Amino acid sequence: MQNMVILGATGSIGASTLSVMVNNPTDFHVYGLVANASVNKMLALCITHQPDYAHMVDESAAMELKSLLPRNCITQVTTGTEALKALVTDSRTDTVMAAIVGAAGLVPTFDAVKAGKRVLLANKEALVMSGELFMRTAKASGATVLPVDSEHNAIFQCLPTTVQAQLGYCDLAASGISHILLTGSGGPFLSTDLTTLSAMTPTQACNHPNWSMGPKISVDSATMMNKGLEFIEARWLFNTQAEQLKVIIHPQSLIHSMVQYRDGSVIAQMGNPDMRTPIAHCMSYPQRIEAGVEPLDFFKVGQLSFCEPDFSRFPCLRLAMQACEQGQEATTVLNAANEVAVDAFLKGHIRFTDIADINYRCLDSVQQTRLDSIEDILQLDKQARATAESVINALN
Ligand code: NAD
Ligand code: MG
Repeated sequence: MQNMVILGATGSIGASTLSVMVNNPTDFHVYGLVANASVNKMLALCITHQPDYAHMVDESAAMELKSLLPRNCITQVTTGTEALKALVTDSRTDTVMAAIVGAAGLVPTFDAVKAGKRVLLANKEALVMSGELFMRTAKASGATVLPVDSEHNAIFQCLPTTVQAQLGYCDLAASGISHILLTGSGGPFLSTDLTTLSAMTPTQACNHPNWSMGPKISVDSATMMNKGLEFIEARWLFNTQAEQLKVIIHPQSLIHSMVQYRDGSVIAQMGNPDMRTPIAHCMSYPQRIEAGVEPLDFFKVGQLSFCEPDFSRFPCLRLAMQACEQGQEATTVLNAANEVAVDAFLKGHIRFTDIADINYRCLDSVQQTRLDSIEDILQLDKQARATAESVINALN
């Protein structure tokens, strides 16, 4: 029985994780649930799953949750950074699902890695911001990091077990691998007339053709910044050189990524686009459990198609690939700028196409900084957010 803590329990990945847990009640125990401020969602989760702990980052949300919990609910409500750290590093916590959205997920995810936990990593932003330090810390602490992001999970499944055991430090070429083929659907605007892109609304941007996800990652999929962040994520997980990574648009989202070998073989991982598959894979690895996902029916699949990404349609993808070349300062700044820009877009303050402009201008301002610790990274993240805010103010 694994005791699990879910960071980002009230979100889309949180819900999928709990659904897999319900399907496998003898293997997993809901030890802790963590969310930001959604009291009603957390209350419902506490009543259904009876976790030992429910942690709300927002203090007043924690107070409210405490007052609403029915008497027969065993859950202890906590708040504050120390309590969160205590929960993820608790000796009774075996596994941490890292599914807080954005930079806010970095510190608790990093704490879990430092404590040597089994970390199921959905929060790609943590690797974008701190990849080198993150993987180095995991190696030192003996933490097991397993990729939940569907593409990285697919790549992981297509790699030899010897490479799987050396995540972050593997030598792909020495294992006969020539390329990692990172696939992406192209999102809702893959064939939208380019002249109309600037008028696209948050509702249109969040209307992903294949996946149901939280608002931030949905907008990132529409700009393909998501694939850019995943490019950086892959760089750290699989220790890749830029030329070993290729991005391929595959609109049906049935192949979730591929690994190409020196001898001409290409190994792909396929399945219906449902995050419960990679989540279940990480939860039970190296075993397999019931995920509750409908099996892929090849007689209904029809066509599988592929094309090259067009950077004039998806400038954010190119920016992220450039940032990856530039290094950790650039990827941290880009991540922060993008979070601020996406938030402003979702609030209706800027146009869809402004997101790429803001990211470009912030990336242009990157300077060499020493990034030796999480504190250094958080400081740079804060500065980049301020830069992005001022770029947005200048736009309006
Ligand atoms: P979501 O918006 O649905 O949920 C976000 C969760 O994070 C919520 O529980 C929220 O309470 C919590 N949260 C937000 N701000 C917080 C803060 N400051 N402190 C603590 N908790 C906070 O997001 P999602 O779609 O579930 O995505 C979560 C992460 O997983 C993201 O990093 C995303 O890139 C990654 N991911 C998601 C999917 C997907 O299908 N949804 C796929 C791959 C990767
Ligand atoms: Mg993904």
